[in-house]
Amino acid sequence: MKTVQVNIVTPDGPVYDSEIAMVIAKTVSGDIGILPGHIPLVAPLQISAVKLKLADGSQKVVAVSGGFIEVRPDKISILAPSAEVAENIDLARAQAAKKRAEERLQSKSDDIDFKRAELALKRAINRINVYEGRV
Ligand code: ATP
Repeated sequence: MKTVQVNIVTPDGPVYDSEIAMVIAKTVSGDIGILPGHIPLVAPLQISAVKLKLADGSQKVVAVSGGFIEVRPDKISILAPSAEVAENIDLARAQAAKKRAEERLQSKSDDIDFKRAELALKRAINRINVYEGRV
Protein backbone atom coordinates (compact mmCIF):
# COMPACT_ATOMS: atom_id res chain seq x y z
CA MET A 1 0.00 0.00 0.00
CA LYS A 2 1.21 3.50 -0.82
CA THR A 3 1.89 5.75 2.15
CA VAL A 4 2.75 9.39 2.73
CA GLN A 5 4.55 11.04 5.64
CA VAL A 6 2.35 13.08 7.95
CA ASN A 7 3.73 15.62 10.36
CA ILE A 8 1.57 17.41 12.92
CA VAL A 9 3.37 20.32 14.57
CA THR A 10 2.33 22.89 17.17
CA PRO A 11 4.22 25.73 18.88
CA ASP A 12 4.77 23.27 21.77
CA GLY A 13 6.51 20.81 19.45
CA PRO A 14 5.74 17.84 17.20
CA VAL A 15 2.59 15.88 18.01
CA TYR A 16 2.65 13.19 15.33
CA ASP A 17 5.09 12.02 12.66
CA SER A 18 4.46 8.81 10.74
CA GLU A 19 3.73 7.18 7.39
CA ILE A 20 0.02 6.88 6.77
CA ALA A 21 -2.28 5.72 3.95
CA MET A 22 -4.89 8.51 4.03
CA VAL A 23 -5.76 11.72 5.88
CA ILE A 24 -9.27 13.05 6.35
CA ALA A 25 -9.44 16.65 7.52
CA LYS A 26 -12.04 19.40 7.89
CA THR A 27 -10.97 22.54 6.07
CA VAL A 28 -12.99 25.72 6.44
CA SER A 29 -14.48 25.00 2.99
CA GLY A 30 -15.30 21.35 3.59
CA ASP A 31 -13.95 17.86 4.27
CA ILE A 32 -11.00 16.57 2.29
CA GLY A 33 -9.53 13.10 1.94
CA ILE A 34 -5.86 13.07 0.96
CA LEU A 35 -4.09 10.04 -0.49
CA PRO A 36 -0.37 9.69 -1.24
CA GLY A 37 0.62 11.60 -4.39
CA HIS A 38 -2.00 14.30 -3.94
CA ILE A 39 -1.44 17.58 -5.77
CA PRO A 40 -0.06 20.45 -3.64
CA LEU A 41 -2.64 22.24 -1.53
CA VAL A 42 -2.76 24.59 1.44
CA ALA A 43 -6.00 25.03 3.38
CA PRO A 44 -7.04 26.43 6.76
CA LEU A 45 -8.56 23.88 9.14
CA GLN A 46 -11.57 24.06 11.40
CA ILE A 47 -11.36 23.21 15.10
CA SER A 48 -11.94 19.55 14.33
CA ALA A 49 -10.80 15.95 14.26
CA VAL A 50 -8.10 14.88 11.80
CA LYS A 51 -8.39 11.18 10.93
CA LEU A 52 -5.25 9.30 9.96
CA LYS A 53 -5.77 5.93 8.28
CA LEU A 54 -2.73 3.74 8.78
CA ALA A 55 -1.44 1.13 6.33
CA ASP A 56 -2.50 -1.70 8.69
CA GLY A 57 -6.12 -0.54 8.52
CA SER A 58 -6.14 1.09 11.96
CA GLN A 59 -7.03 4.73 12.53
CA LYS A 60 -5.60 7.50 14.70
CA VAL A 61 -7.65 10.55 15.51
CA VAL A 62 -6.09 13.89 16.41
CA ALA A 63 -7.94 16.90 17.81
CA VAL A 64 -6.67 20.10 16.16
CA SER A 65 -7.59 23.65 17.17
CA GLY A 66 -7.50 25.09 13.66
CA GLY A 67 -4.29 25.89 11.79
CA PHE A 68 -3.35 24.78 8.30
CA ILE A 69 -2.86 21.63 6.29
CA GLU A 70 -0.13 21.75 3.66
CA VAL A 71 -0.19 18.88 1.16
CA ARG A 72 2.68 17.89 -1.08
CA PRO A 73 2.80 14.63 -3.07
CA ASP A 74 5.32 13.07 -0.64
CA LYS A 75 4.51 14.89 2.59
CA ILE A 76 1.55 16.28 4.51
CA SER A 77 2.13 18.88 7.23
CA ILE A 78 -0.45 20.10 9.70
CA LEU A 79 0.50 23.23 11.62
CA ALA A 80 -1.93 23.96 14.43
CA PRO A 81 -2.03 26.23 17.52
CA SER A 82 -2.62 23.04 19.52
CA ALA A 83 -3.19 19.38 18.68
CA GLU A 84 -3.63 16.20 20.72
CA VAL A 85 -3.76 12.56 19.70
CA ALA A 86 -7.02 11.10 21.12
CA GLU A 87 -5.35 8.99 23.80
CA ASN A 88 -3.37 11.98 25.11
CA ILE A 89 -6.43 14.10 25.75
CA ASP A 90 -7.14 14.94 29.39
CA LEU A 91 -10.92 14.49 29.48
CA ALA A 92 -11.41 16.17 32.88
CA ARG A 93 -9.46 19.22 31.67
CA ALA A 94 -11.58 19.49 28.53
CA GLN A 95 -14.79 19.13 30.56
CA ALA A 96 -13.63 21.87 32.94
CA ALA A 97 -12.73 24.12 29.98
CA LYS A 98 -16.19 23.48 28.47
CA LYS A 99 -17.92 24.41 31.73
CA ARG A 100 -15.83 27.59 32.10
CA ALA A 101 -16.56 28.66 28.53
CA GLU A 102 -20.30 27.96 28.90
CA GLU A 103 -20.42 30.03 32.10
CA ARG A 104 -18.65 32.91 30.39
CA LEU A 105 -21.03 32.78 27.44
CA GLN A 106 -24.06 32.81 29.75
CA SER A 107 -22.90 35.75 31.86
CA LYS A 108 -24.27 39.12 30.83
CA SER A 109 -21.09 41.04 31.58
CA ASP A 110 -19.79 43.44 28.91
CA ASP A 111 -16.25 42.48 29.85
CA ILE A 112 -16.57 39.03 28.32
CA ASP A 113 -14.81 38.37 25.07
CA PHE A 114 -17.54 36.24 23.52
CA LYS A 115 -15.58 35.26 20.43
CA ARG A 116 -12.78 33.98 22.62
CA ALA A 117 -15.18 32.06 24.87
CA GLU A 118 -16.89 30.54 21.82
CA LEU A 119 -13.56 29.31 20.46
CA ALA A 120 -12.59 27.88 23.87
CA LEU A 121 -15.95 26.07 23.94
CA LYS A 122 -15.37 24.67 20.45
CA ARG A 123 -11.91 23.42 21.39
CA ALA A 124 -13.26 21.75 24.53
CA ILE A 125 -16.18 20.08 22.73
CA ASN A 126 -13.85 18.91 19.97
CA ARG A 127 -11.46 17.34 22.51
CA ILE A 128 -14.33 15.61 24.32
CA ASN A 129 -15.70 14.23 21.02
CA VAL A 130 -12.27 13.03 19.89
CA TYR A 131 -11.55 11.42 23.27
CA GLU A 132 -14.91 9.65 23.22
CA GLY A 133 -14.52 8.58 19.59
CA ARG A 134 -17.52 10.61 18.43
CA VAL A 135 -15.95 11.87 15.21
P1 ATP B 1 -7.50 24.99 28.68
O1 ATP B 1 -8.45 26.11 29.08
O2 ATP B 1 -7.82 23.70 29.37
O3 ATP B 1 -6.05 25.38 28.75
P2 ATP B 1 -7.44 25.60 25.89
O4 ATP B 1 -8.37 25.20 24.79
O5 ATP B 1 -7.40 27.05 26.22
O6 ATP B 1 -7.82 24.69 27.14
P3 ATP B 1 -5.09 25.48 24.28
O7 ATP B 1 -4.65 26.90 24.39
O8 ATP B 1 -5.77 25.05 23.03
O9 ATP B 1 -5.97 25.09 25.57
O10 ATP B 1 -3.84 24.51 24.50
C1 ATP B 1 -2.77 24.80 25.40
C2 ATP B 1 -1.93 23.54 25.56
O11 ATP B 1 -2.61 22.60 26.40
C3 ATP B 1 -1.66 22.80 24.26
O12 ATP B 1 -0.37 22.21 24.33
C4 ATP B 1 -2.73 21.73 24.22
O13 ATP B 1 -2.33 20.61 23.47
C5 ATP B 1 -2.87 21.39 25.70
N1 ATP B 1 -4.23 20.97 26.05
C6 ATP B 1 -5.31 21.77 26.21
N2 ATP B 1 -6.39 21.08 26.60
C7 ATP B 1 -5.99 19.79 26.70
C8 ATP B 1 -6.63 18.57 27.06
N3 ATP B 1 -7.92 18.53 27.41
N4 ATP B 1 -5.91 17.44 27.05
C9 ATP B 1 -4.59 17.45 26.73
N5 ATP B 1 -3.92 18.57 26.37
C10 ATP B 1 -4.60 19.72 26.35
